[in-house]
Amino acid sequence: MSSWRDTTCGVLTADDAGTRVKLAGWTDTRRDHGGLVFIDLRDFSGKVQLVINPERTADAAAVAHDVRNEFVLQAEGEVVLRAPEAANPNLPTGEIEIQVDTLRIVSRSEPLPFQVGEDVDEVLRLKYRWLDMRSERMQRNLRLSHIAIAAIRRTMDDLGFVDVWTPSMTKGTPEGARDFLVPVRLQPGKFFALAQSPQLFKQLTMVGGIDRYYQIATCWRDEDLRADRQFEFRQLDLEMSFVDREDVLDVLEASVVAAFEALGREAPARPFPRMSYADVMRLYGTDKPDLRFGLEIQDATELTRGSDFGVFANAPVVRYLVAPRAFSRADLGRLEDVAKEWGAKGLAYLVNDGGEIRSPIAKFLSEQELEALRTEPGTTVLFVADTEEIASRVLGGLRTHLGRELDLPDLERNEFLWTVDFPLFERDENTGGWTFVHHPFTAAIDGDEEKIEHDPGAAHGQHYDLIWNGWELGSGSIRIHRAETQQAVFRTMGLGEAEQQEKFGFLLDALRMGAPPHGGFAMGIERFVALLAGEPDIRQVIAFPKVSSGGDPLTGAPTTMPDTVLRELGITSIVDPGQD
Ligand code: ASP
Repeated sequence: MSSWRDTTCGVLTADDAGTRVKLAGWTDTRRDHGGLVFIDLRDFSGKVQLVINPERTADAAAVAHDVRNEFVLQAEGEVVLRAPEAANPNLPTGEIEIQVDTLRIVSRSEPLPFQVGEDVDEVLRLKYRWLDMRSERMQRNLRLSHIAIAAIRRTMDDLGFVDVWTPSMTKGTPEGARDFLVPVRLQPGKFFALAQSPQLFKQLTMVGGIDRYYQIATCWRDEDLRADRQFEFRQLDLEMSFVDREDVLDVLEASVVAAFEALGREAPARPFPRMSYADVMRLYGTDKPDLRFGLEIQDATELTRGSDFGVFANAPVVRYLVAPRAFSRADLGRLEDVAKEWGAKGLAYLVNDGGEIRSPIAKFLSEQELEALRTEPGTTVLFVADTEEIASRVLGGLRTHLGRELDLPDLERNEFLWTVDFPLFERDENTGGWTFVHHPFTAAIDGDEEKIEHDPGAAHGQHYDLIWNGWELGSGSIRIHRAETQQAVFRTMGLGEAEQQEKFGFLLDALRMGAPPHGGFAMGIERFVALLAGEPDIRQVIAFPKVSSGGDPLTGAPTTMPDTVLRELGITSIVDPGQD
């Protein structure tokens, strides 16, 4: 049997002129000029122009007449140079065309819901994803994803990591989200949870002597879907024995750089900067700052301690940003609304409008205060006077907002950052008790073990996050490898002996049977690839994503199930899901 094609569309150039070729692909466009018919034939490699001339072949001309967009064709013919005035400089194959001798319709297409590459509603694109996937954008993104993942796998292999498969159906893994549950026909009334991550399994591979584990692991988390969140996503998940933090960070940096290089991009310089959680929160008001612009939070607490302006004098902290604009009253009103959304009571300001200060609070400030707060003409000082936590949160929110509104990030730059030394615990907003910041298996930094039970709020964890241009790519930590320490963490979280045993007995057993010191990391593959692709959300790099309602427009999932099926699983539904 002869093959369907002997070359692909996008690779032909003037050097091929005079050769005969056999091509197969989709009809991108068809232009019927009465006699001559022009067809742009497309495959994964690009497009090439077919010319069907009835004087050369009446048969092919009759077929060409029938062709419509997205018909699959097979063509044979000769590569010829186009006349200079007919060359298309926008197409890599624009200097040539194919004078067709035979043309065959391999497969037909009904009229399309949209044209390939057309900017239409995303739900429509996802409903017909196979069509959307033929677009340049999706072809580029899926291939880019493949190249990045292949580079990561090669790096892991080179560094001696072992790919170990871990179960998806398991017991709940506490990563801070809700679990997806899987009912079990053989044990009605019982459920597996889909793994939120392979966290405990990868730790057990360390106890099992694997030393360096990795997996491109699928994780499931029942959370609201957002630009950077899907129910299911992949992580570069890794774990290493006998390491400290820097060993883990080093491997991640190597993987990131390998992906950049595989894509022919200039790789970020190593080592990536490291900043403590305390410092990033103080300077940027978030643990994932976009460092492509400055606009750092500054402090005026000392300066305003004895201020005549009571709001400043009495606030636990007074912090501010210097925005590079002399904002109008209307702008300031809008900024105050943003600040209030983040929890501020108000937003004080000093506008330096060409050297002249506009501000309702200036009259309460002393000469010395005004002098210390004097900024360049064309700027605005925005103040939040509140608790440290609120001031930080509000100014962090404003900084991000201003970055976007004023186009502050330098888009040419790639800024990676390790945020390190997070607190180990935080207060649970609902219960008021202590809960983990990363997950309960994170070790305290050296010297802080004592604090786990005695002063939990002051304990720091060996937890680190990787940030790229303000997106959290992933997190990891050095783990607890002693059962007693693990139990101290559980106790602080309010887990009694029985509950510890019931939920994590297997982990405690493993930690009691020769657990090596270990640590690891997980990097979100889709977030990483979306940023590499310059896409605003991860759906654009996922072949078949869900939309924000939690559904899949392509298959129509999720769907209801017949009662007979549910009964077999020991389930009755108490909600009426309405019509699908
Ligand atoms: N399991 C953690 C996560 O999914 C990552 C880690 O600590 O290795 O975020």
